Amino acid sequence: MDTEAVRARLLRRREELHRRESGAKADLRHESDPLSADFAEQVTQRESDEVLDAISESAREELRQIQAALRRLDAGHYTSCAVCGEPIEEGRLAAVPYTDRCRSCADGERSGPAHRR
Ligand SMILES: [Zn+2]
Repeated sequence: MDTEAVRARLLRRREELHRRESGAKADLRHESDPLSADFAEQVTQRESDEVLDAISESAREELRQIQAALRRLDAGHYTSCAVCGEPIEEGRLAAVPYTDRCRSCADGERSGPAHRR
């Protein structure tokens, strides 16, 4: 698994969501500082509740999952299922790069008690 490619993909997606967020925020208050090249820094600073309130619930949830995925990448257990500890299928990670569950745990969550070992 090419974790650097995954990280780049997650960061791109996060940037997209934050761009949407800054649009939402501009409606709430006069926003004068444009996004700079130092985007990653700003993203950290912007993660206040106030900012997150300005974006839609779904974007907020996705951002949360992306943040969690980036933390898992940093910690080196990105590919392990958070529920059962088994490796998450590569195809699944490709489809849902911020998932923290293997396919059977995710399915179990939808259709009843979680699959556990
Ligand atoms: Zn699992």
